[in-house]
Amino acid sequence: MRILPITFGIKNKNSVINSQTLSTPLHQNSIPENNTDTFTANNSDISFNGKYSTFITNKNELKKLAKNGHLGCIWCGGSMFTQNELDMFQHVSKRLSSSGELFSRVMLHFKDYLPSERIKLVKQISNYSRAFPNNDLKYILKKMTPSAEKRLIHKQYFILHNIQKLKPELPTELHKDFDILINHSKHRIKEIPYVSEYSAKEFCYQLNKLAKTLPLKEKEEILKIAQILTHPIFKEIDQTLPEKWLKRVYLQAKINPNRKGNYLSPHNFNAKDKLKLILLNNITEKAKNNNNLSIIKLCELTKNKILGVPVKVQFSNKAFTYKLYEILENVKNEKLRNKFEKQIKKLPTSLSNKDAFIVKYKNEPTEIIISKLLADSLVTIEHITPILRNTSDKELKLINKNLSKNNRIIRGIDNIDNWALAHNWCNLLHGCKNIKNEDFPFSKEAGIKYFKTLINDVNQGLLSADSVINMAKNYFEQTGIKIKLNGMKYTKE
Ligand SMILES: [Zn+2]
Repeated sequence: MRILPITFGIKNKNSVINSQTLSTPLHQNSIPENNTDTFTANNSDISFNGKYSTFITNKNELKKLAKNGHLGCIWCGGSMFTQNELDMFQHVSKRLSSSGELFSRVMLHFKDYLPSERIKLVKQISNYSRAFPNNDLKYILKKMTPSAEKRLIHKQYFILHNIQKLKPELPTELHKDFDILINHSKHRIKEIPYVSEYSAKEFCYQLNKLAKTLPLKEKEEILKIAQILTHPIFKEIDQTLPEKWLKRVYLQAKINPNRKGNYLSPHNFNAKDKLKLILLNNITEKAKNNNNLSIIKLCELTKNKILGVPVKVQFSNKAFTYKLYEILENVKNEKLRNKFEKQIKKLPTSLSNKDAFIVKYKNEPTEIIISKLLADSLVTIEHITPILRNTSDKELKLINKNLSKNNRIIRGIDNIDNWALAHNWCNLLHGCKNIKNEDFPFSKEAGIKYFKTLINDVNQGLLSADSVINMAKNYFEQTGIKIKLNGMKYTKE
């Protein structure tokens, strides 16, 4: 059998991983040879000799400029992975996770691509790998988990404590809900089982996320059954069910009432909870047919909630924030709301805190962990002036009515004049936030370097000078940073 060395060809600080240093054997069939064109060291598919007869005008062509670190992120200046490159990591993820030492060495080679907390994480993996040589990544992460959990709990408790200190400022009628949320959150953080409240909305939200990987037909069937759980009838006090309604539900969910476990008398004094369990059992059965363990687990957890059995629930910033905002919904005091918001923003996330990353993914297979670790470094199309996808013209008009002329928000256009390349995480961080002048959270030098590369690309005939001029205009509008386009050759389109 022929064996191939791992040769990552992504250029990093003008070096290519030396196949000698990474010559751990890899079975040839793991990387098809014809795949090398997606992972080569040279820039063969980006022509710098004006071979392109037309300028780059679409998103995919533009994204190719990120390849091999040619064009860095407009916001932080770091290198970005293309989707092909991430796919290649997936191809070799089994090999990578077979040794903590190999994994950290390869990742550190790509440190220009990773956010700072990720580099800290990789460095820690590297240290542990030295202490436990010849162990795989799973083993190393397992060794790292207890202390990561301890530090994370400490941090989360501290923030929760600060949030709790704001309670006296809340209207008294909200105190009860607030106390329950804090109490439950403490249980979640410490992973202590507690009788958790059942919420059909929460179940459907999580199911929706997990069902994404299912085949379309199965996904639709499962979501159709889950939808029944949100029917307003379940909120009514009477626990029996109208016979006609129940028949319709069975028909809609394609449940055979005569099969074992499916029978339900509508007059049963607990018919509603029983129906919920039957529906969840049917979802479980479908998930089992598709080997979807996470949906099976979610159904199990939800059934326990309905039955009042104490369950372990992992703390999630999203769920906590959602519930806290629900409580704050009717609080008019904006200053107080801002105080809460300030604390919520401090909650450690898997991106901002390496311990949170370890804890969040501690039960996942290493292939998933590797893909999560790298996914934030994917190259994305950033709209320099946000296009405000989720804001209608009417809403925008309303917002601008209350703003002074200088602060009015304009909607960006969706073409190359307003496109830039940015990391997935930088793109999310920008969102549609105001990043002008003193609020600029990114690196000014990164922007200058970004446009310097674009000037070269224009001179090589890859991009139109007009587009780059407009990009710089948009960049100035957004950030207040002026870019000099010295040395750019202007040729008429
Ligand atoms: Zn970035």
